Amino acid sequence: MPPSLLVCAATLVASIPRVKAKVPPLSSGPRFCHNHGAMKKTSSPATHAPEQVAHPATIRAFQRRLIEWYQRHGRDLPWRRTRDPYAILVSEVMLQQTQVQRAILYYEKFLRRYPTVEDLARADEPAVRETWEGLGYYARARNLQRTSQKIVDEYKGRFPKNPQDLEALPGIGPYTAGAVASFAFRRDAAILDTNAARVLTRFFALPPERQTSRFLWDVAHQVTPAGKAYIFNQAIMDIGATICVARTPRCSVCPLRPVCRSVEKSR
Ligand code: SF4
Repeated sequence: MPPSLLVCAATLVASIPRVKAKVPPLSSGPRFCHNHGAMKKTSSPATHAPEQVAHPATIRAFQRRLIEWYQRHGRDLPWRRTRDPYAILVSEVMLQQTQVQRAILYYEKFLRRYPTVEDLARADEPAVRETWEGLGYYARARNLQRTSQKIVDEYKGRFPKNPQDLEALPGIGPYTAGAVASFAFRRDAAILDTNAARVLTRFFALPPERQTSRFLWDVAHQVTPAGKAYIFNQAIMDIGATICVARTPRCSVCPLRPVCRSVEKSR
């Protein structure tokens, strides 16, 4: 990992002056489900002809600015230091309903107890429940263990690499499938969680009728750059978590500001 990625998000956020947003508010907002604040819909590329969200040059500028920003300011999180699909899956399942700082503690404890997919597949369920205790939503751990058992029994311990196969496993939705496929296997898989949806909605100044999960997934597929999904996906989530935040976007320090349509519209 480049040293520049070791910049702590808390430090970054603390150093950012709060500015009053001049961007239009989100209307009723995109519709979210509980899966990592992920948007409901298949992760498969759209089968219908998707409407182009912006000129290709705008999309390229969006990708480039996001990636360059992430390389300097991305958060250093333990699950970003590995490409083990099992460890990445554990982190993503924990993050479905748990804040990042709390998830870090449980992630490390869980992996010490069950370091491999085989260890979790063979474990006694009460012991898994005990390790998960405190995180809540125990169904997540049950599904994680069922997924581990399927991977051991049906895939000989090797994770499937494409989002469609991952989505067929217990408890894995389109967001989690895209995350594992892009982070562990460097697949060109899109993701859409609450942070990414907010950034897309504001950056492209999407009107209320376009703030649907279907349209936003289409946009996510359009803007995910080939060969760089693993870094782009981290970048869009991080900028949504630290700069294009829900209440008051910090447009004055946002690398997307020069090309952001919401800012342009507000001038
Ligand atoms: S993408 Fe950046 S410039 Fe645009 S609304 Fe969000 S914080 Fe502001």
